[in-house]
Amino acid sequence: MAKLKRRSTAHHLAELAARLDGSPEGHDDNAMRVMNRLETAVERLAGQSAAAGRERERLCVAANHISEGVVICDELGEVVFRNTLAEAYAGARHGDALVERTMAELLAAALEGSTGSEHLDLWGPPRRALVLSALPLQDRHRTVGAVAVVEDVSERLRLEAMRRDFVANISHELKTPVGAIGLLAETLAAEDDADVTRRLAGRMQVEAERLGRIIEDLLDLSRIEAEEGPVREPVPLHLAVGQAVDRLQGLADLRRIHLEVVVDQEVSVLGDSRQLVSAVHNLLENAVKYSDSGSTVRVEVGDRKDGVAVAVVDHGIGIPERDLGRIFERFYRVDRARARDTGGTGLGLAIVRHVAHNHGGQVSVTSKEGEGSTFTLLLPRGPTGSRTFLPANPLPAAT
Ligand code: ADP
Repeated sequence: MAKLKRRSTAHHLAELAARLDGSPEGHDDNAMRVMNRLETAVERLAGQSAAAGRERERLCVAANHISEGVVICDELGEVVFRNTLAEAYAGARHGDALVERTMAELLAAALEGSTGSEHLDLWGPPRRALVLSALPLQDRHRTVGAVAVVEDVSERLRLEAMRRDFVANISHELKTPVGAIGLLAETLAAEDDADVTRRLAGRMQVEAERLGRIIEDLLDLSRIEAEEGPVREPVPLHLAVGQAVDRLQGLADLRRIHLEVVVDQEVSVLGDSRQLVSAVHNLLENAVKYSDSGSTVRVEVGDRKDGVAVAVVDHGIGIPERDLGRIFERFYRVDRARARDTGGTGLGLAIVRHVAHNHGGQVSVTSKEGEGSTFTLLLPRGPTGSRTFLPANPLPAAT
C-alpha cells in the first residue's frame, strides 16, 4: 500500500516536472532526477517572475513620467493601473470628480469595443481644458482591458488663441498705415496744386516710416523670442546703457529732454549685449516719448540685493493704474490716439519683457498719472571681475 502511494507521489512529481519544464514525458521514477528537474524549473520560474516584476516597475516609472494621466482597467472594468497624474482624480471632488466619472464612462464604453474621447472645461481655479480618450486593449480577438488617457490641453489652447490674436493684431496694425498710404496716393494722383502735393507726399512718408517701424519691431520681437537661450557673454551694463543713450540722444535733443546717466556701480551680467541694448533703448525711447519737453530722464545702473538693475526714471505723463498690468502685452497702448502721435508700435515693452525673460530676469514698473514712471530691468548678477575677460569691442552695434 505504502509502496503504491510512494509510486503515485513520484508519478505526480514527475508529471509536475514535465508540466513545468514542458517535456512530453510524464513518467520518470528516478526520484533524484525528478527533484533536479523540479529544482531547475522552479529556479527558471522564479527568474521569470523577478524579470516580470522589474518590467512592471520600469513601465510604472515610465508611465509616471509622461505628462498625461493614464488609467488601465482589466476586462471586468477593475482599475489595475493608474499613473501619478491620474491618481489625483481618484476619490476627488468638484471638477476632478467629473474627470473621474467621464473616464469611467469612457473605459466602460471601450470595454464594449468603442474608442471615444471627451473635451472637458473645468472652471477651476485654475481653469483647465482637458481631453479624455479611451480605447480597448485587444489581444488577438479578445478584449483584455481598456486604457484611458487624460491630456491637459490648456496651455496649447492658450498659445493657439494668442497666435490667432497676434495675427489679427498684426493685420490690423499693418492695415491702418497701408490704408492711409493708399488713400493719400489716390488723392495725390488727382491733385495739381504743388503745395498740396508736397503735403500729401510728406504724410505718405510719415505713414511709410510708421509701417517700417512696425515691421522692424516685429522682426526684433520674433528674433528675440526665437533666442530662448541668448548668447552668454559678460556685458557691463553701463556700456550697454551708454550705447542705448547714444542711439537716443538725437530724439532727446529734438524733444529738448535731458538724459542723465547715474552709475552707482559698474556691474556686469551674462547675456546678449544686442538684446540688452535693445531693451534699454526701448525703455529710454518711451521715457523720452512720454515726457514733456524740458524734463529730465534719468537712467540708474546699480547693484541690488536681488541682482543688478537698470532703472529708467521719467517725470512724464505716467500710466493709469488700470493699464499697468497690460502694457507689456504686444500692441497694447494706453491711449491709441496718443501712441499714434508718438509713432508708437505697441511692441517696445513686449520686447523688453522678452529680453528680461531670456536673461532670467524681469521688468517691473511703478507709475503715477501726471507724475511719471520708473521702469526697472532686474537681471541676475554676472561673474565678478568679468570685465577682465571682455573682448576688445564687447558691444556690437545693435540694429
Ligand atoms: P509704444 O510703441 O506704443 O510706446 P510700448 O510697448 O513701448 O509701445 O508701450 C506700451 C504703452 O505703454 C504705450 O503705448 C504707452 O501708452 C505706455 N507707456 C510705456 N512707457 C511709458 C512711459 N514711460 N510713460 C508713459 N506711458 C508709457
